Amino acid sequence: MRAPARWLNLVGEAEYRDEAEAQLAKPGDAVLVVRGRTRSVVMACPDGCGETLVVNIDPRAGKAWRIDTRGEGLTLYPSVWRDGGCESHFIVWRGFLIWCDRFTVGNSEPRYDPSIEESILSAMDVSTPLTAAAIADAIDEIVWDVNRAANRLVHRGLARSWKEDATWFFVRVGDRTNGGTCE
Ligand SMILES: [Zn+2]
Repeated sequence: MRAPARWLNLVGEAEYRDEAEAQLAKPGDAVLVVRGRTRSVVMACPDGCGETLVVNIDPRAGKAWRIDTRGEGLTLYPSVWRDGGCESHFIVWRGFLIWCDRFTVGNSEPRYDPSIEESILSAMDVSTPLTAAAIADAIDEIVWDVNRAANRLVHRGLARSWKEDATWFFVRVGDRTNGGTCE
């Protein structure tokens, strides 16, 4: 079996799915389908099974992923998970393909930039739980970047997180403005 792709390789744009599919040559190749607005990302399944995956970007056409073209490559949120067939499950983050189940050995992530932490803490609230997506919207950053940094803040005791209905929520811990203790 061929090694899975580790990078989503954006090879072009097309107006329709069949034109997009014609441009796919190897696993991990992807084409944006754009008609007036971005409709979908068509990709050759990165595990090498030979199937074509269509990730819908257009909320008017049903369940839609977020797309972000900032950074070294494409970002999709949430993760892409095939229900049937090869059942591939992966994250597309700044072009990196991060495998969630198989092939996890060899995963590498985009470089960590700690400068995002301060704005995340400012966007978090001590009482209102926010998702990583909501925080990312508030500070105009990439959701996976925010998610990773928010989890590091949790590890350092500066934030708290918990899962509710398959979604993670974050709150800031304590009051950072005076740093005082209750006496
Ligand atoms: Zn596959």
